Amino acid sequence: MPAPGQGVTVVGAGLAGSLLAILLARRGLRVSVYERRTDPRRANTDSGRSINLALAARGIRGLQLAGVLDRVMPLAIPMRGRMVHEHDGSAELQMYGVRPEEVVYSVSRADLNRVLIEAAAELPDVELNFGQLCLGLAHERAGFELRDEATGRIHHSAAQPGIATDGAGSAVRDALLARELTSVREEPLDHDYKELTIPPVDGRPALEVNALHIWPRGGFMLIALPNRDGSFTATLFLAREGANSFAQLGTPAAVEDFFQREFPSARALMPDLTREFFEHPQGSLGTVYTRGWHLDGEVLLLGDAAHAIVPFHGQGMNCAFEDCAELIRLMDQHHGWAGLFEAFEHERRPNTDAIAQMALENYREMRETVLDPEYRRRKKEAEEREKRDPNVIPRYSAVMFHPEIPYAAAARLR
Ligand SMILES: Cc1cc2nc3c(=O)[nH]c(=O)nc-3n(C[C@H](O)[C@H](O)[C@H](O)COP(=O)(O)OP(=O)(O)OC[C@H]3O[C@@H](n4cnc5c(N)ncnc54)[C@H](O)[C@@H]3O)c2cc1C
Repeated sequence: MPAPGQGVTVVGAGLAGSLLAILLARRGLRVSVYERRTDPRRANTDSGRSINLALAARGIRGLQLAGVLDRVMPLAIPMRGRMVHEHDGSAELQMYGVRPEEVVYSVSRADLNRVLIEAAAELPDVELNFGQLCLGLAHERAGFELRDEATGRIHHSAAQPGIATDGAGSAVRDALLARELTSVREEPLDHDYKELTIPPVDGRPALEVNALHIWPRGGFMLIALPNRDGSFTATLFLAREGANSFAQLGTPAAVEDFFQREFPSARALMPDLTREFFEHPQGSLGTVYTRGWHLDGEVLLLGDAAHAIVPFHGQGMNCAFEDCAELIRLMDQHHGWAGLFEAFEHERRPNTDAIAQMALENYREMRETVLDPEYRRRKKEAEEREKRDPNVIPRYSAVMFHPEIPYAAAARLR
């Protein structure tokens, strides 16, 4: 275990970075965090990416380990299952689990990040630096090169080692790649996403609150997660090009026609559809596979920086929080940082590769398979078996509700 009082740099105070800072400081380390955004406690710094996230057991375990779960749960809305909306307007709730506690929570990304940063800031051994853009590794390798966004001053982080939690577009990963210390394979998805709003109607939620809503349409889908203000954030997942694609939705009339034709029940609940459609960004998605997450005992990639995945299993953040918890667990078994980082990649990569694959497979399940009567029959049978025998755990439950089952083992289940 690293000696107490030793310094560590964390780049990125997003979801993983802020949780990791708390966990490392609770282990007696002095943590300096550098984040490119401004302080979210002072201003709304919403990055424009997903507004709310599904939090499940693996993420909850990480929050518990850091002692912050009690602050997060008041922000969370339980979702008991998927409400599948058919084309004819009928809807059916498909439960996520077979036990009352087997629910997934909808939580605002901005609120969750703010709570984690507040909790980190309360710890005397955490120093938070906002408005600091990491440019990569310092030339002589010791530390990171950073730019103060207010003054333009270039400086270096002092504390070593450095852990990069700077997300899917990681500058630190790029720097390792440029020095041929890492190999990276990026697999962009040919479907993009756009977030829209389903506001409350007469002050009340327009849909069942305790569910994740899906309008599956075969090749594409709309989903909606509840927010605490009674609204829902809807996300359209759609091909970039071709038939039924974003490329075809270039005018308000085309958007209107598409939603009326494909999602009439949702369209009726979206008064600002066309304005939002053209104002909100079209986000891209993809999987990043990295080999070589560490540089000796000096640098480690963690969270999306090491292994970004598509969002269809709702596991990217959960997996990043599990990374944080696993790194802390492995600290007890390793004296030096180099051995710790090597063990971390050795242990985590098979699991992150497994969830990357399951997340891709789950896109088809969400947008298409959930409509299949045969799938529904098999799902009901599996639920009955699981109720009778708690040792029979289907893959979906293993991923969402059983953090004691590693992702790689969950992937072998059906
Ligand atoms: C549409 C969508 C829906 C999703 N839904 C879910 C879900 O339901 N459940 C789930 O578990 N996951 C979900 N995810 C995935 C989840 O958002 C990510 O896996 C998670 O945010 C990863 O956390 P992170 O800390 O590694 O990266 P991030 O949260 O991206 O944090 C990175 C941080 O680093 C900072 N940063 C970036 N570059 C630099 C730099 N050069 N210098 C300094 N700072 C920098 C950023 O400002 C940011 O604060 C979703 C993702 C998307 C896109």
